[in-house]
Amino acid sequence: METKDPLAEYRSKRNFSRTREPRGTASSQGLQQGAQPRFVIQKHKASTLHYDLRLEVDGVLKSWAVPKGPSTNPRDKRLAVPTEDHPIDYIDFEGTIPENEYGAGTVLVWDRGHYRNLKDKPIAQAIEEGQAEIWLEGEKVQGGYALVRTGTGNDVRWLLIKMKDEKADARRNPVSTEPASVITGHTIEQMETSTQEG
Ligand code: MN
Repeated sequence: METKDPLAEYRSKRNFSRTREPRGTASSQGLQQGAQPRFVIQKHKASTLHYDLRLEVDGVLKSWAVPKGPSTNPRDKRLAVPTEDHPIDYIDFEGTIPENEYGAGTVLVWDRGHYRNLKDKPIAQAIEEGQAEIWLEGEKVQGGYALVRTGTGNDVRWLLIKMKDEKADARRNPVSTEPASVITGHTIEQMETSTQEG
């Protein structure tokens, strides 16, 4: 019987009296029957800019930090560094994490929507095995994406790769052409300006 709190690492890294990030619910709960799982890609201007891809899986958000963000070109292999599971509530988090706190910097919801598992096994198992394939239905990013773990030992790394399908498009580059939040329409720079007022 698995009793380990999947959010223990998430909570241990944060001081919730200082950051406005959600603490998350105590117990993980699965999806309502028939509900499609969601994903989010959060643009995060921390010490280095990156894009956090999070997938709703078994009551938590499985997470990877993608330094260059997702590509729509199947020739690109984007490094995706696994990070700790986040609470489901994090899916619509935007705002500024205070200086000196973990992940200090500004976060916006760069894209969001539902996803489908393209493998004929549970998504949690596919991730565990390092061979996940998902279909994203976002506002900026759509179609099949593979999340694959490659290498061995110290060279293990994950890659996020656009699959070849009708949504693949080598000419698009939404990371640079569509920088704003899908919730507010504001960019990171606009958010930073408004938090500096007063
Ligand atoms: Mn991040």
